[in-house]
Amino acid sequence: MFRCLRCGRCCQRTEMVLVPSDVARLTRLGYRFEDFAVVEGDLVKLRNVDGYCYFYDREERRCRIYEERPLGCRVYPIVVDLDEYCVRVDPECPAAETVELEDVYRVLPLLHQILRELGLTHIIPRLRIRLR
Ligand code: SF4
Repeated sequence: MFRCLRCGRCCQRTEMVLVPSDVARLTRLGYRFEDFAVVEGDLVKLRNVDGYCYFYDREERRCRIYEERPLGCRVYPIVVDLDEYCVRVDPECPAAETVELEDVYRVLPLLHQILRELGLTHIIPRLRIRLR
């Protein structure tokens, strides 16, 4: 079972993609799109400020919007690799080795939602699960 070390590394120089429902939820909370997001090509991503996610509280070492965090942050360190066509574990996560197949199954509905919101459900039949 995945055991998060709460090291905050995944909130450092984040490249987390935001889906439309993330943007809607965060703007509804009063955050301004231009403050927390950047547009890179077709994708919207979390903005980094001084090397950390806009929402990361460096003093408290915690996410300031944990309950409302983006879907990608909820499934991390499990990611969809669009180059390799697989669902895999980010090896950058220091606790990557603790992720088990049941963790992947647990987040499948969220992964499906992310792909649906990004208009990528057509790739689902091609996706493999690669734990290591
Ligand atoms: S939204 Fe929260 S969990 Fe996600 S990268 Fe930012 S600080 Fe980390």
